[in-house]
Amino acid sequence: MTMEPCTSSSKASHRANSICFGLDGATTYFTDMPTGRILAYASDVDTGQAHSPRLFADSADHSGLPDGRGSSGTSRRQADRLPRAQVSRASTSPGSPTDPALAPRGMACRSASRLEGPSVKITEISTHILRVPLGDRTFYSSQAAFPERNSLLVRIRTDDGLEGWGEGGQYGPPSPVAAVIDDVLAPRLIGRTPDQPVRIWEELYSFSRDFGRQGPYIEAISALDIALWDLWGQSLDRPVHALLGGAFRDRLPAYATGGYYGENFRDRTAMLEELKAQTATYVDSGFGILKMKVGLLPIALDAERVTTVRRTVGPDVDLLVDANHAYNTATAIRMGRALEENGILWFEEPVVPEDRAGYRAVREALSVPIAGGEAEYTRYGFRELIGGGCVDIAQPDLCVSGGFSEFQKIQALASTYGVLTVPHVWGSGIALAAALHALATVPATPHTYAPVPLQNLPVVEYDRTHNPLRDELLVENFALTDGDLLVPQGPGLGVTIDEEVLQRYETTR
Ligand code: CA
Repeated sequence: MTMEPCTSSSKASHRANSICFGLDGATTYFTDMPTGRILAYASDVDTGQAHSPRLFADSADHSGLPDGRGSSGTSRRQADRLPRAQVSRASTSPGSPTDPALAPRGMACRSASRLEGPSVKITEISTHILRVPLGDRTFYSSQAAFPERNSLLVRIRTDDGLEGWGEGGQYGPPSPVAAVIDDVLAPRLIGRTPDQPVRIWEELYSFSRDFGRQGPYIEAISALDIALWDLWGQSLDRPVHALLGGAFRDRLPAYATGGYYGENFRDRTAMLEELKAQTATYVDSGFGILKMKVGLLPIALDAERVTTVRRTVGPDVDLLVDANHAYNTATAIRMGRALEENGILWFEEPVVPEDRAGYRAVREALSVPIAGGEAEYTRYGFRELIGGGCVDIAQPDLCVSGGFSEFQKIQALASTYGVLTVPHVWGSGIALAAALHALATVPATPHTYAPVPLQNLPVVEYDRTHNPLRDELLVENFALTDGDLLVPQGPGLGVTIDEEVLQRYETTR
């Protein structure tokens, strides 16, 4: 059932210090101001007019509740005793007194956050392009050389002195994402309250739907969304994972992303020796899960790389392999046979993201689970990837696919298909912090009493290539703890930007 708007007669029918916030069949709901008590009155079905003598539910004393329960207590406990539909409507209906846009100034409900009193406003949004040249540390995937690490951070400031951080623009050049924020989206947020990230997400996406359903527009929305959740959490003194609905865990098994190709990738012997040394280092530093690259070289040679790593780390270390969409269906299946022989636990991006049929064919042909999704945007991209039966593991990137607001929808979609959500992580410490908050809220898929990493427990991607934006930018730097990364517990993202490091790597467009 849906709540109908109040009629003029119902608005006028009760006491002057209460506000009608909706009609539901024969019931009219009021909030008593300023106590915040929820009052339900029988109303005339035809006219919507409430009849004062027939109060049948009161959140304070429950005098009219059918089961006769009623005692004083906190507002939370009182709300728990109200009929379920009534409570949820009271707290979420557009037009309810908890909507700060409609609540009379200075008369906010008891349940309102401090953002819903005299409103906190967004006053400033700034973008920060960061670049770190890698010099002789340049590395290669199947797709490209990486001569630098870069990212785009966004800072949102409010008039009460808080600042929230978000990230986008980490795959390609960051400047287009900065331009979208600076020139198009930021002006739409100045003056808004930062406590409605999901609503703002929908508004920004609807605004840019005709020209920005993927790419820089969604990366820009992602960055802004992460910053808004950071701000909201800080304003309530709660971590983002709590605002998302609650954490299942406070730490996650981390997997080392490495095993890229160095400048020596054309020299088989040198390349294999370097790979052996690198993967041994990961195991020595405590990782129990490693991910390596394939796809740049002929399949036979890349298969030799996988076999070399397996021999180096032994049978007890879990191995994942990432092709960065280097193959077509036939070549992916050929590579996949070598992965099966080496006990690989996922094959990431075997084919190009547009080739849904290829994904399905590879998944059907191989016993290795298929992962993908770092190049997908929003719930709509993941609807095709997950709903199309393409993957066993969905990898939305918080900084690319739409931030926390969209992550919740993607994760919900994945859960209905029994697909485990394991976010892709590539950018700075902000991206890693965002992923950890999101990962904390992913349930075991499916549930078991003692979830197993990669089987039904999500793990966190911890890139091990050289990147000061990940390892130096935050005051609270992440470190491996018994093979795990710890979920930040401070307000918002729970991390602080080191302004000196920010200035060191910040560049102009
Ligand atoms: Ca990847």
